[in-house]
Amino acid sequence: MEDLIKFGDIEIQYKKKEIKNIHLSVHPPNGKVTLVVPKETRLEVAKAYAISKLSWIRHQKKLFLEQTRENYLKYEDHESHFLWGRRYLLSVNYSDKKSFVKLEDKKIILTVKLKSSRKNKEKIVQEWYRSKLHEQIPSLINKWQEKMGVKVNKYYLQKMKTRWGSCNPISKNIRLNTELAKKPKNFLEYVLVHELAHLLEPTHNENFINILNKFYPYWKEARKELNELPISN
Ligand SMILES: [Zn+2]
Repeated sequence: MEDLIKFGDIEIQYKKKEIKNIHLSVHPPNGKVTLVVPKETRLEVAKAYAISKLSWIRHQKKLFLEQTRENYLKYEDHESHFLWGRRYLLSVNYSDKKSFVKLEDKKIILTVKLKSSRKNKEKIVQEWYRSKLHEQIPSLINKWQEKMGVKVNKYYLQKMKTRWGSCNPISKNIRLNTELAKKPKNFLEYVLVHELAHLLEPTHNENFINILNKFYPYWKEARKELNELPISN
């Protein structure tokens, strides 16, 4: 017997079998969810189990979706790529000299060596995104350090799957997701302010909220919009 259990946007295919333990799985590539339970399990028990695992299910589904999206990028002509929230069409040129990326009108022009692999093209585009972030971040850090009365030791860029930024209040180092270069610029600023606020308050407590309210009153709207965007695209 196979059934469908639904919790909001999550659909779970539910099946009873001659087994000893409950098996909950999220399957690639589309994030299909299955729940297989021992024959004698009551439906309410199976449901309660699934509910307790909903955030894990959501997380797994998100990872699969991101993977699909990432593999989908081929770095070929006419493909959509984003910079600061704007969509550009990729145009690939081949040259035997240096590889580089140039922005032109509504196009991102990628120049690479003949027979460059997809991976190589990706690397060059990633480097370009990093350089775009490096153009923006130091002046933003200066602006907010002064406003908030904090001091950053170093900042790092890193491609992260599950978070936009992080802060180590002891070393005073912050880490920002390179994917931020693809989102509208105000999100970079919002994430930066959030991480700088951790230099004043390491945890997300009331004091932290007060700090955000004081320095970045629209943080709730920014957070909501940012969370609705996929981390990678
Ligand atoms: Zn935080």
